[in-house]
Amino acid sequence: MTFPVKFSIFARHLWGGSSIWLEHRPVTSEVASSSLVHPVPKDAKMFSQEDHEWMSKALEYAEAAAANGEVPIGAVIVLSGKQIGCGQNRMEELHSATAHAEMLAISEAGNNLKNWRLDGATIYVSLEPCQMCLNAIKNCRISRVVFAASDTRGFAAINPSISGGLLEKESAEILQKFFRNVRRVKGDSGLK
Ligand SMILES: [Zn+2]
Repeated sequence: MTFPVKFSIFARHLWGGSSIWLEHRPVTSEVASSSLVHPVPKDAKMFSQEDHEWMSKALEYAEAAAANGEVPIGAVIVLSGKQIGCGQNRMEELHSATAHAEMLAISEAGNNLKNWRLDGATIYVSLEPCQMCLNAIKNCRISRVVFAASDTRGFAAINPSISGGLLEKESAEILQKFFRNVRRVKGDSGLK
């Protein structure tokens, strides 16, 4: 039995290099079709006001992660219009490669519902989920994934239904601000 997962893309960003956010590209169909994993539809009307609000919340969690010195990624899980779980990247704090925002949000949602099955839920994530999180999302039967920034190293093997184009700038700014600060701190301390 398979559980189809719908994907929605809020924005177009690239991860440059292996570990650090470097570049932000504007939303254009040429960029989308030529160099990104998922094509960007021209019509962004598939996003509701509710989608905007929940994604804004996911970005708030990303900001909170940045405030803790973590790579800024946030996630919110919503079921029937209510938040059932949230998470922010806590890999450094928990010394865990699995402490991604989505994984923590999934755990919280399961705890709240007393049920690991999250059928019908939507997860809003500020960055395209990695393979680990994507598998977790499928395993817990989340029905819809909406993300902001794209990770072009992402899940090319997946064949999702795609929609796109919302809060791109906001998500990019959170990430860019974070890494600007990282570079500044390193510069101040003489570290390279
Ligand atoms: Zn992940």
